Amino acid sequence: MLIGHINSPFRPLADEFAFAAENGFDFLELTVEPPHARLESISSREIKRLSRLHRLPVPIGHGIWYLPYAHPVEVIRRACRAYWDEYLTLCFELGITAANIHTNFSYPRALYAEVLENHFEFLAGLVEAGREKGVKIMLEPVGDPGRKAEMTDELLKGVDGLYLHLDLGHLHMAEDDGGIGFIRRHRDKILHVHVSDNNGLEDQHLPIGCGTVDFPTLLGELKQAGYEGAFTLEIFAADREYLVGNREKLRRLWEQTR
Ligand SMILES: [Zn+2]
Repeated sequence: MLIGHINSPFRPLADEFAFAAENGFDFLELTVEPPHARLESISSREIKRLSRLHRLPVPIGHGIWYLPYAHPVEVIRRACRAYWDEYLTLCFELGITAANIHTNFSYPRALYAEVLENHFEFLAGLVEAGREKGVKIMLEPVGDPGRKAEMTDELLKGVDGLYLHLDLGHLHMAEDDGGIGFIRRHRDKILHVHVSDNNGLEDQHLPIGCGTVDFPTLLGELKQAGYEGAFTLEIFAADREYLVGNREKLRRLWEQTR
């Protein structure tokens, strides 16, 4: 079982590599976000140097989560695609084989059909561009309750070659059954998993056990689905002892899960 750390964009990237290596994480999931990990100011050369220095692989890419790629204004979508083309080049140079993109439904409800169509178009183009660079595109559904889960279903079924980046905290917020049905429906597409806890209403990124996510049940479902991929802890507690402690806690929970 591999457990990774995702760099905080609010801390220098070099410090994040050192932190992950010193605390025994197996890999670094690279999020490319301002202010400390901007696409325009990080280089594959420097990241490779840090990866070698700390003997820490960088197998997973995490795209900037608030990019408005499904925006109703076309020129904004085109700019997002240009950004993604650059980002995919970085992934290619780093040997990243899977990168995630979040759902982007934060628009007026009356624009639902249009925004959904924009998702289809953007994601299909991205999957194709990723293929050319050896990068699988994973959709990470954000955790808003309501119709968004249905939208995610449509996208995962409708975009050929699109994978699922499962976030157990988001799942807990979006699905009435805690996410069991969603995992069953999309079990074959899960490529990577994020782990954090919350109260079911806000994406709080709490340590395991501090919220109401039913980890034994969800991990059990993943095990039954034959999931053998890795996990990234997305715990944003100010005191990072909680994050480090959660590494062993997650390992124990996974081992105890039947
Ligand atoms: Zn996540």
